[in-house]
Amino acid sequence: MSLDAINKRRGLMLVMSSPSGAGKTTLTRRLLDEDDDVVMSVSATTREPRPGEEEGKDYYFVTHERFREMIDQKELLEHAVVFENRYGTPRGPVTEALRAGKDVIFDIDWQGTQQMMSSASAIDLVRIFILPPSVKELEDRLRKRAQDSEATVRKRMEQAESEISHWAEYDYVLVNEDLERTYEDLKSIVRAERFRRERRPGMSEFVRQLMEER
Ligand code: 5GP
Repeated sequence: MSLDAINKRRGLMLVMSSPSGAGKTTLTRRLLDEDDDVVMSVSATTREPRPGEEEGKDYYFVTHERFREMIDQKELLEHAVVFENRYGTPRGPVTEALRAGKDVIFDIDWQGTQQMMSSASAIDLVRIFILPPSVKELEDRLRKRAQDSEATVRKRMEQAESEISHWAEYDYVLVNEDLERTYEDLKSIVRAERFRRERRPGMSEFVRQLMEER
């Protein structure tokens, strides 16, 4: 049996949730840049693009009408309302990436995570929650981002509390005090999860052959 066949694995569905400003986007982008086996799930949203955001890279920016159609046609793996806007995960690209042996990262909130947990994909999920080291730090980071208005920053602070209250629904919780350290921790999680027995479809056959060799 070839080493490739032994090491074949099911792709991970890496769900990353956090309140805005905890550093999730930075961590995710870095993992994507440095690990060729990881791809990003690009969500659809009805919210307006922020300056610098690109269609198809950051989000698919769609109308409310198109979003409803996506729900009706069952094109979304999950969807939720966050800050009065709708967000959802297109199903097609995820299925395709997993089939190609890639791991997929999802930047989705607790509502989306719960929906994914109650679907057939639950066994492929690895849920990671990122916390800020303090509320003050979170607020500072949101302000520094300067992309959002003062009113939005305030709304996001309120929303942060509700997002954080779901931390215990995740498999791993990282406190992002130091970006380097948190990134290393994230990489360790991904590395270990790839070795889980249930994600190694070639292993049974390999062990069967091992036993026959005796
Ligand atoms: P933002 O507007 O700052 O890009 O995202 C706001 C929140 O929506 C973030 O917490 C993000 O995780 C969440 N979000 C983004 N895309 C999706 C999605 O497809 N589904 C769900 N459930 N939440 C999403």
